[in-house]
Amino acid sequence: MQVDDHAEELASDLGVDKEEVKRDLQNLLQYSVPIEEAKQSVRRKHGGGGGGSAAPTTKDVADVTPDGGNVTVTARVLTVGERSIRYQGEERVIREGELADATGKISYTAWQDFGFEPGDSVTVGNASVREWDGKPELNLGESTSVAMEAEPVEVEYDVGGDSTLLDLEPGDRGRNVEVRVLEVERRTIDGRDGETEILSGVLADGTARLPFTDWDPRDEVVEGADLRFENVYVREFRGVPSVNLSEFTTVSVLSEPVAVRDSAPRLSVAAAVGSGGMFDVELVGNVLEVRDGSGLIERCPECGRVIQNGQCRSHGAVDGEDDLRVKAIFDDGTDTVTVVLDDGLTEEVYGGTLADAKEAAREAMNKEVVTDDVAETLVGREFRVRGNLSVDEYGANLDATEFEETEDDPAERARDALDSVGDEGVSA
Ligand SMILES: [Zn+2]
Repeated sequence: MQVDDHAEELASDLGVDKEEVKRDLQNLLQYSVPIEEAKQSVRRKHGGGGGGSAAPTTKDVADVTPDGGNVTVTARVLTVGERSIRYQGEERVIREGELADATGKISYTAWQDFGFEPGDSVTVGNASVREWDGKPELNLGESTSVAMEAEPVEVEYDVGGDSTLLDLEPGDRGRNVEVRVLEVERRTIDGRDGETEILSGVLADGTARLPFTDWDPRDEVVEGADLRFENVYVREFRGVPSVNLSEFTTVSVLSEPVAVRDSAPRLSVAAAVGSGGMFDVELVGNVLEVRDGSGLIERCPECGRVIQNGQCRSHGAVDGEDDLRVKAIFDDGTDTVTVVLDDGLTEEVYGGTLADAKEAAREAMNKEVVTDDVAETLVGREFRVRGNLSVDEYGANLDATEFEETEDDPAERARDALDSVGDEGVSA
């Protein structure tokens, strides 16, 4: 066999990119490592264990680790999601989801159709294990066998993918949700096969709101529609879980309306930031400071970024477009977050339109008058803000959808706080 063939076989077994495997192999062969030893080494690197000669170990799900070699597990199939990916230049359908036994659950990726469905009890023989997102994942490749078990494996998890929006997490696959489409827009993006149309927007159910993308636009997905999606997968998008509809997702219209949660969960700033990002959250706190880049600003007409002195970081000298924005440091005593108000909300707190702001700046011959005006209104006051919180290496930002001064009397709130302490005292 040529290196190419070895690489092909290994890549398929391990479920990793062939070119990467080939590079690793060639690197070892260049140092006169025998081919079988080189293959073993590459297998170990990609979590495939000892490979060919080593027999798989029969394990409980909770004991599966990426560095313990190939495994055999007997488990219940919780979910099966289908997805098409580009693998070695070809379109390939993979199946993904979760398996469980009495000890725990584990994600899997199957590189071919083994014919199992949610609810089936199976023995998966000789699966390789790799680490995915910090957790072990079973990889069912060409050398894996799947046998149906007559005796059901008892598990404490729900079988099938039915889920609420609140329960979805990035990495989930083969999930089913019943939702109302709150917002939807059609967009053209540069896909891997050139320009392609997608739908994106916001979904809601009784537990939460989440953004979604439909990669294969369907006529049923319109604003206000109550729908059941089967076989969606979840990705992280700007720090929050996002529901993805693939070509394998089925969409059906529900006869009963979906009860939608109107309010956002109210959290402390520390709890919201600690969650790593939330699509829809409500915070109450004080504005400590209005940051630079607030008030009357200019944006690049090409990319929408805020520009300084007519210079865009990406597009050089451009003819900026005027806009209004506020970036406020918001604090509730537990942590701080930067709250960003768009043009509409900024007009509300400024008490004037973009035209009014430009007029004021022209009269004063200084844009700062607008910023100062906004700061005077906001700093030191308490507000309720609702919106989309993203947390990344640059900090925590909340894009506000609602922003208003709290009306409740601080003294009354202090009494409420005391009351709730009292309640806890009684129940304890
Ligand atoms: Zn630009």
